Amino acid sequence: MQDSKLREQICDLGRSIYDRGLTHGSTGNISAKCEDGWLLTPTGSNLGRLDPARLSKLDWNGKLLSGDPPSKENFLHLAMYQERERNQAVIHLHSTHSVAVSVIDGLDPNDLLPPLTAYYVMRIGNLPLVPYYAPGDMVLADAVRGYAGKHHALLLANHGPVVGGSSLAAAADAVEELEATAKLFLMLQGHRCRPLNAEQVADIKRRYPAG
Ligand SMILES: [Zn+2]
Repeated sequence: MQDSKLREQICDLGRSIYDRGLTHGSTGNISAKCEDGWLLTPTGSNLGRLDPARLSKLDWNGKLLSGDPPSKENFLHLAMYQERERNQAVIHLHSTHSVAVSVIDGLDPNDLLPPLTAYYVMRIGNLPLVPYYAPGDMVLADAVRGYAGKHHALLLANHGPVVGGSSLAAAADAVEELEATAKLFLMLQGHRCRPLNAEQVADIKRRYPAG
């Protein structure tokens, strides 16, 4: 895809995410592979007001090639791309319901959310919790790298989701599905629930192999 078109897509997606309250203030960052590196939203930028010309372009060592200085969370994206060759885009948000799930004690850290819907199984499937490290702590990058080989969707404890996809649209669909499911999960607290059973989950995975 042309660099200029991809830049427009990142900015359009950022505005859509921000306008729907899926991240707030200057939190959240979006990246996508381009012809000669990858594009990332700049540090301190508000996803609702991105400028296509000022997006950070980086090489595969994380060095800035052009544009504004990159998000301080650039290493999260780089770790995902390094471990997931086929991913074309990565989105990290501080989406409220997902963050709430990342704070609840006592959930299975290998798989935080039950298979409430078929779309959750198709777009996320399995969601591990990455232990808490302070933002910017490089140990967090190593931790993400440890999970990214097996998982395209991770939830950082007390922080938020990191999701990779085969395209910008696929990554957006997945992170939004995660946020919607986290919201459902919280709404259902205190109710007797009937998540999909193992046979139903296996059937969905057969019909829609993970991308
Ligand atoms: Zn963050």
